[in-house]
This record gives sequence, C-alpha cells and structure tokens, in this order.
Amino acid sequence: LVQLENVNKHFGALHVLKNINLTVSRGEVLVVIGPSGGGKSTLCRTINRLETINDGKIIFDGQVLPEEGKALARLRSDVGMVFQSFNLFAHKTIRENVTLGPIKVRGKAKDEAGKRAMELLERVGIAAQADKYPAQLSGGQQQRVAIARALAMDPKMILFDEPTSALDPEMVQEVLDVMIGLARDGMTMMVVTHEMGFARRAANRVVFMADGQIVEENTPDEFFTNAQTDRARDFLSKIL
Ligand code: ATP
Ligand code: MG
Repeated sequence: LVQLENVNKHFGALHVLKNINLTVSRGEVLVVIGPSGGGKSTLCRTINRLETINDGKIIFDGQVLPEEGKALARLRSDVGMVFQSFNLFAHKTIRENVTLGPIKVRGKAKDEAGKRAMELLERVGIAAQADKYPAQLSGGQQQRVAIARALAMDPKMILFDEPTSALDPEMVQEVLDVMIGLARDGMTMMVVTHEMGFARRAANRVVFMADGQIVEENTPDEFFTNAQTDRARDFLSKIL
C-alpha cells in the first residue's frame, strides 16, 4: 500500500530521514520504535505529506504522492492520522468531530454521516458521550474519539504517532484495545509507540529507527528477544 524509496528529508542542516526504504502492505500493522529525535514523527508526517521530502519517492496505493493540489488532498484524506495530543475540535461536540470530515471532505449527507458516526462511536465505546464536548471527556475517551474520527473518513491506512504517551496510565489500555481491534479487523496501520504489549499482540513487524535511519526491521518476537544491533539492544535495555 505504501512504498518509500530512498526518501531523504532535511531540516536545514539537519538530515532527519536518511535514505529510508520501507514498504507497508495492505492489512499490515507496523510498529515504529526508537530513541527521541530519531525521525519517527517526521516519517509519519511525510507519508501524508504534512512534510515535504527533499528527494526519493513515496508511492501510495500505486500513485506517486503529489506535492500539492487536489490529488494531494484526496490522498491525504485516505490516510488517517492520530496524534499524541488528540487534536479534537474543542468547540464541536463529539458527534460533530466525527461527522465534520465526511460532510466537508467526502460530501456525505448529514444524516448518513451522523448515523455512521454513531456506529463508530459505538465501536470505540463512547456512543453515550456523543453530545458532549471534548473537554468533558477523559484523555482516553478523547483519543478514542480521535480514532473514530479517523475511521469516519474510511481511510486506507491510519498513522498513529505515540497515541498513548499523553495519557494517564490507567487510560492507556482502553486506547490500545481499540487499536488491537482495528488491527484484527485488517486495518493497515503504522504505529509509533513504545508499548511493547501492543507490538507483541498486534504488530506484524517492528521497525527500529535511530538517527534518521532504519537500523533494524524484524518480527516483534525476534526484535524483543533477539535484537540484531547494539543500537537496538541498548535502546531496549533502557525501556524494558
Ligand atoms: P520523539 O520520540 O521525541 O517524538 P521522533 O523520533 O519523532 O522523536 P522527530 O520529531 O521526527 O523525531 O524529529 C527528528 C529530528 O528532526 C529532531 O532532531 C527534531 O529536532 C528535528 N525536527 C523535527 N521537526 C522539525 C522542524 N519542523 N524543524 C526543524 N527540525 C525539526
Ligand atoms: Mg515523535
């Protein structure tokens, strides 16, 4: 579904993505882990072109990602994104947060979007809160709304950038459970997270990134028990 070929990205003098080659297949769940500043967020952001790249190629669903214009907007709407800070619209209700994209971007009728929103809110376990505002919900609930909002666009893939790292510990699992459900349902996902439990249960592959490079790529079992590089072993010894 996504192919990155020799992707390079600089922020001024800083070389943030160094010749990245990566493929994500349909239905695959990829976990990206690695030290702070290694380029994980930048990698996510280049895939839906929140960041431009300096050279290389990103192919999404058979098409080279365009730099701008209508084609880019369409591609971007096919890639959902869930951030660490939930980024919900504060002045809209939970239901409106979920219906806004489908109505404005997909041109869905209000009734239809509303019905689908309720199904999705049901799926993430917050249908009862549909008429509340984001500030009235816990962090875990808000993040589940953010996931429902991403799903409402019928994305071909969802990128998660540390979706649970801003949450109180007791709320982490409820969000991971929703994500594990999505993975089981065959959603293509790229997940930046240090949640090993999630990686072991849901990931097909773990990518270890440091200093702008993919240092290692393996199955979760192999990666966590038998990391191939000193860099990865050193990182794992600090977080496990
Ligand atoms: P973390 O685990 O802390 O989230 P990360 O792996 O997601 O780290 P990135 O956020 O992708 O890392 O950042 C990679 C490097 O690029 C860092 O050195 C960061 O300071 C730098 N960087 C990121 N965004 C920008 C920007 N907009 N302008 C300049 N430098 C940036
Ligand atoms: Mg980051």
